[in-house]
Amino acid sequence: VRRGISKTTYVAGHGRQVMEHETSAQRSKQMSRIRSKDTKPELLVRQLVHGMGYRYRLHRRDLPGSPDLVFPSRHKVILVHGCFWHRHPDPQCPLTRTPKSRLDFWVPKFEANRQRDLENEARLGALGWGILVVWECQLRHLAIVEVRVREFLEG
Ligand SMILES: [Zn+2]
Repeated sequence: VRRGISKTTYVAGHGRQVMEHETSAQRSKQMSRIRSKDTKPELLVRQLVHGMGYRYRLHRRDLPGSPDLVFPSRHKVILVHGCFWHRHPDPQCPLTRTPKSRLDFWVPKFEANRQRDLENEARLGALGWGILVVWECQLRHLAIVEVRVREFLEG
């Protein structure tokens, strides 16, 4: 990706582009309703995918779990999962720490999140949607994510 330009500059540039692209009264009204979903990992993926030239819909609520990025004509969705809340199963993941106290509080929450993810993915799959899950910790290597996204969307 663009040699000679730092990753920060690259991402910031697309950040402005995406913000301009999405600015409208309707958009900000919707944003306020779904603010909890507009996490930083998701914004990074949106900027990356937008910069790759793909267009998508956000959080289509008529689909199971309101998938983060929806590509209707390709019948594909990208889900961006925060490693901590969604419990990234990769043993190498540096972000899926387990709290040391209040396990009676955390464990049921984690299990409910994981269960909801599995159900949503199963329902999306049953409806014929292709699914790519991007985990938060994978965003440290955007070039790899870019390759995976392109293979997924073109495949
Ligand atoms: Zn992770």
